[in-house]
Amino acid sequence: MTAPATVAVIGSTGSIGTQALEVIEGEPERYRVVALAASSSVELLGEQARRFRPPVVGLADASRAAELEALVPAGTEVVAGPGALAALSSEADVVVNAVVGFAGLPVTLAALGAGRRLALANKESLIAGGPVVQRVRNTAGAEIIPVDSEHCALHQCLRAGGADEVSRLVLTASGGPFRGRSASELAGVTVEDALDHPTWSMGPKITVDSSTLVNKGLEVIEAHELFGVDYDRIEVVVHLQSVVHSMVDFVDGATLAQLSMPDMRLPIGYALAWPRRGRQPFGAIDWTSLGRLDFEPPDLDAFPCLDLVRAAGRLGGSAPAWCNAANEVAVAAFLAGRIPWSGIAEVLKAAMDGHDGREMDSAEAVVDVDRRARLHVERIVERSTA
Ligand code: NAD
Ligand code: MG
Repeated sequence: MTAPATVAVIGSTGSIGTQALEVIEGEPERYRVVALAASSSVELLGEQARRFRPPVVGLADASRAAELEALVPAGTEVVAGPGALAALSSEADVVVNAVVGFAGLPVTLAALGAGRRLALANKESLIAGGPVVQRVRNTAGAEIIPVDSEHCALHQCLRAGGADEVSRLVLTASGGPFRGRSASELAGVTVEDALDHPTWSMGPKITVDSSTLVNKGLEVIEAHELFGVDYDRIEVVVHLQSVVHSMVDFVDGATLAQLSMPDMRLPIGYALAWPRRGRQPFGAIDWTSLGRLDFEPPDLDAFPCLDLVRAAGRLGGSAPAWCNAANEVAVAAFLAGRIPWSGIAEVLKAAMDGHDGREMDSAEAVVDVDRRARLHVERIVERSTA
């Protein structure tokens, strides 16, 4: 019998992190948790530490380290502060990056730089850090296995042919809670409405991103970065049932799709078990009750963010990082009640008009673009609320 793979779950208290721990718990002979980390949820992190007994736990918010110390089993090392999470991301066989937002960048860079497998849920780090992440991805042993359901589907479909045989990637989108509404009908939607996703239960940031279709724009960039397919050959189609998770068209006209019921534990299990498969049947379809599969084009007038983000991808360089930061600021402003839902698209548009291209030759350069974008966009938000 082979030894269990060691796993670090960074962002273990969130939607993806807790589901990753469920998958791990279901195959105890296969995986052993060696590090857990989160931002500030000490109660849940302490409970996880008692359940999985990793030798070390990390907390981004150093001010709460003492509270966490009191909650973990004796002998567990607690590391705290912004640099702690990266430090934990270089030891395990597999690093699950389940942090939300740009804060996940150090985890992605540390895991790949140490030649580890990165099970990547944190798309923002790959999108914002594109050129820098690609370089560190060449480290011996380093690999990215996507946890995002669409990219997991593409990863599976791409096993059926060579890169020169792929004609097109087709990303499916649920359309979010506001699918079918016109721009005028969307004027008055609330935070509560936006957080009510029809098919997926996720953290607040990605749920808002799904409602604006920013998420799908980010996923187009993510697909480009992961699979090296140019933007002209990446398409988005709205698919109501969230059962077809994405498709690949091949040059002979064949299309391969990956289907399963919407359950993130399947892509998480896929990334953990790669190149084999998870043994728990998450998302298995009951074909006798599946019924129909519907597809339609996205409504680009009602959801302008899809094209705004896609355009940032096409620009490349520092544009995706700038766009990602702008979106994070806009989403936070929306969730705080400072701007309306439609303000997210307006802020994003104004932000991209103010983008100044920069060289993205180091992690510091990426962090600098992110920092300047946030300052710039915060001023746009302030002006819009004045
Ligand atoms: P979430 O808000 O539920 O959880 C976020 C986790 O990140 C928490 O553990 C939190 O403690 C941690 N975190 C937040 N800020 C941090 C910081 N500054 N430093 C360190 N840790 C920090 O988010 P989620 O829905 O689980 O999403 C996580 C990532 O996975 C996102 O990038 C999201 O786009 C992606 N994703 C999520 C889903 C889903 O179903 N939830 C699906 C696809 C992709
Ligand atoms: Mg997705």
